[in-house]
Amino acid sequence: MHNVYIGLGSNLDQPKKQLDSAIAHLNSQSGIHELQISRFYQSKPVGPQDQPDFVNAVAFFITELEPLALLDVLQNIENIHDRVRLQHWGPRTLDLDLLLYDNKSIQIPRLTVPHPFMLERGFVLKPLADLAPNLILNSKTITEHLNKIDISDLIPIPK
Ligand code: ATP
Ligand code: CA
Ligand code: CA
Repeated sequence: MHNVYIGLGSNLDQPKKQLDSAIAHLNSQSGIHELQISRFYQSKPVGPQDQPDFVNAVAFFITELEPLALLDVLQNIENIHDRVRLQHWGPRTLDLDLLLYDNKSIQIPRLTVPHPFMLERGFVLKPLADLAPNLILNSKTITEHLNKIDISDLIPIPK
């Protein structure tokens, strides 16, 4: 079994409902077990600013799925939620990013793990710290990484 953290994000079509539905899909996957979800946060978009705020969360689970099979599952769930790719970092109904897969480092065209921007993004680090404040990445805990970035734009919201 492998320990996995993923990031969830949405800024279209009732973002909280998109996340709830994504979580339900993850829960019903046969290869995904012991799902835990962080708090939900409202965040400002990265990239183009002329789009709605996001709702973000992080999920932890254990899985027997290998990384690419897991990416297939995540992209399938995105597609079920009418994810269309129009603009880089543009608005989307659902974004599921594979953040961490055990302590594995993966660099292939379809998949980079750890997710390359996760340590710069408050909307990833803050919910990740809800679930795993003492997890170590690059010799520092998630809490230490979080303390180095500005998260004043991030608002915890009720689930
Ligand atoms: P960002 O990666 O900056 O968060 P994004 O989520 O908007 O950007 P997408 O358009 O969702 O990017 O994904 C583009 C491609 O990135 C996907 O088709 C996928 O193959 C690839 N990819 C590489 N690494 C990962 C990862 N760790 N998790 C999810 N997708 C990844
Ligand atoms: Ca993303
Ligand atoms: Ca993505």
